[in-house]
Amino acid sequence: MIYANKFAYLNFLCYLRGMKVSMKDLFFPHCCPICDDVIESQQVICDNCLADLPRTEQATMRGNMTEGLFMKEAKFVRGATFLFFEKDAPVQNLLHKMKYGMFANPLIGYALAKEAAYEFMQSDFFDGIDVLLPVPLHPKRLRERGFNQAEWICKGLSDVTGIPMDTTHLTRILNNAHQAQTAGEKRSDNVKNIFAVNHPEELFKKHVLLVDDIITTGATLQACIDVLRPIRKCHFSVFGIGKTR
Ligand SMILES: [Zn+2]
Repeated sequence: MIYANKFAYLNFLCYLRGMKVSMKDLFFPHCCPICDDVIESQQVICDNCLADLPRTEQATMRGNMTEGLFMKEAKFVRGATFLFFEKDAPVQNLLHKMKYGMFANPLIGYALAKEAAYEFMQSDFFDGIDVLLPVPLHPKRLRERGFNQAEWICKGLSDVTGIPMDTTHLTRILNNAHQAQTAGEKRSDNVKNIFAVNHPEELFKKHVLLVDDIITTGATLQACIDVLRPIRKCHFSVFGIGKTR
């Protein structure tokens, strides 16, 4: 009986190995963060949920809602977000799971950015962009969180488009209060003078794409643009994963 059980157990392990299921997958199955269905280990979000997320279609829309936030900037070129971000909707839950909690998963941002890049490459959105700049976190917050979500989003865009990302030029010199906890009209005060540019001369004549996770009033990206504006012949575009309506 013992042998029979052992045989059955080994048979079961072989069956799992044949199915490419590891013990880790058996006890800690890899699940879609939206529908909780078990997904393959190389996936982050299941295909159905990814297809159902609400696209803004802004990559092909000149004068869209995101661009409207920066239209006064003479050197502003393009702006677009990938998804609509609504309270208590899957996109909000997803971006929350990306950034917060013990199981915060930056791969969510990476996967969404890759999908956005594939879809945006059907348009001229990335044409002429020289470098991707993620909105930086203050070193203190970076230590607390362990990663910068904007960098993971940049990496997703970069891996698909081949446009290099750069994390050395733009730095956050002040650790401001969380934007999400700051009332609308105070958001631009909260981010005033918090960024700086290292070696601005290296961005001469460059078209940079500023990358953030969520664009609300655009105050954080505007604060980045404020420090890039004095660089001669430097033009800027912006990209976000989520845009509040
Ligand atoms: Zn799913």
